[in-house]
Amino acid sequence: MQTSMTTQASVQAFQALVNEIHDLNATQSLLGWDLEVMMPAKGAPLRAKQLATLAKFSHNLMTSNEMQEHLRNLRQPGVYDRLDTMSQALVREVGRAYDKSVKTPIELLQEMVETTAEAHNSWVTARANKQFKQFEPVLRKIISLNQRLADALGYEDSPYNALLDEYEPGLTVKQLDPLFAKLKSELLPLLKGIQNSGYVPDTEFLKKGFFPKEKQLAFAEMVLRDMGFDFESGRLDLSAHPFSSGSSTHDVRLTTRVDEHDVFSALSSSMHEGGHGMYEQGISPALNRTLLAEGTSLGIHESQSRMWENQVGRSKAFWQAYFPKLQETFPELAQVTLDQFYHAINRVQSSFIRVESDEVTYNLHILLRYELEKALIEGQMKVDEVPEAWSAKMQEYLGITPANDAEGALQDIHWSHGSFGYFPTYTLGNLYSAQFFNTAKKQVPNLEKSISQGQLLPLKSWLNQEIHVVGKMENAETIVQRVTGEPLNATYFVDYLWGKYGEIFSIKR
Ligand code: ZN
Repeated sequence: MQTSMTTQASVQAFQALVNEIHDLNATQSLLGWDLEVMMPAKGAPLRAKQLATLAKFSHNLMTSNEMQEHLRNLRQPGVYDRLDTMSQALVREVGRAYDKSVKTPIELLQEMVETTAEAHNSWVTARANKQFKQFEPVLRKIISLNQRLADALGYEDSPYNALLDEYEPGLTVKQLDPLFAKLKSELLPLLKGIQNSGYVPDTEFLKKGFFPKEKQLAFAEMVLRDMGFDFESGRLDLSAHPFSSGSSTHDVRLTTRVDEHDVFSALSSSMHEGGHGMYEQGISPALNRTLLAEGTSLGIHESQSRMWENQVGRSKAFWQAYFPKLQETFPELAQVTLDQFYHAINRVQSSFIRVESDEVTYNLHILLRYELEKALIEGQMKVDEVPEAWSAKMQEYLGITPANDAEGALQDIHWSHGSFGYFPTYTLGNLYSAQFFNTAKKQVPNLEKSISQGQLLPLKSWLNQEIHVVGKMENAETIVQRVTGEPLNATYFVDYLWGKYGEIFSIKR
């Protein structure tokens, strides 16, 4: 009796500490949103200080003696086993974050912050000049810091595993290699088939005309409401780069950007961010103010955004319901048929820029980055070899060669941020989304029919119940196994692509 009282008190004190850490993190997140969406330009220098102060307090609490004491106590087998499921998950996840914090030397973190601040400017300049050479020195430093970070965190097999774990807990090279090998062997012939089909959908009408901002935003908001995004627990604003963030399950912020000469991109990015946002809104409110009230991994998060953006937002079923509404809003499209529109938004084309690529070529862009990152971190490639390796792989996978480094190795911001191991989570998102959607089609009665009638809530409810509600109580592996009855399997994504694009381009597998 005495022991359980003590444990009870310890759990409560531990939770109170976790709540405070979460409050600090949530406040940082809101200040970050404000910085991108509302803040006047001159606010930037002091905002950086405000964010740094909050980060320091949060880090101090996370690595405090009090935290060490709680975890030491609550992680003891006899104690841990008797905790309720939520407390166990909390001890597990906070323990993970704590272990990482104490393993990472503070000087290393400091150096990383300083180097990436320098790297950002260097990357911007190098990209403007299209000269990878100018980015090389600082990139070399970033890679060496990442290698030191991997050593500090510890790993098996490859130092790249330690970095992957930061974004997709538990993910390893051993799991990724066969997934990418499968994608490569299936996507290259698909792309060839599409290119040899001789059919190139007309996309001109998507960008011909003037599509006023207010109308585009109103349309996106209508679709978000139909999807089930809760505007009483969230909002949609404009920013230079679309993102989603927030401070709790009841405060989720989406952003989009509008090009008045493009009828599709703002809607598509809103559906993408809406998928992220609905994940956050769908987490059990009981988990608020804890580290469990967030998406379980970047890959699972991305599966939610890609499902709405692609599986739904680029499907014929969806546009059966929404194309007439789009035509009503934008009379410029009056002469366009549903099929013409559906084909236009699913055009496939080898292009240099990842963020402009389509569903078929997208993962080949990621494969290229994965192979280069892994080789750089494992020390099998030197930084000055990157541009040439990039060109060779672009030629091999997409059949095109970038004319300069801005179209090649300098296009992404990730490496200048110090992020290595992030790119693969985009591909995981695509794979998970196809696997989840395949299960949803079996479990939600008449799913595609209801989508074609503009009824999107059955899918949302299924996602809430199967994936969102548990937050971080379950990891990615557990969720995929529980929901789909098997581990992550690239077959569903490949089948989805062949099915859809085989039909559009009249080609056989
Ligand atoms: Zn995303």
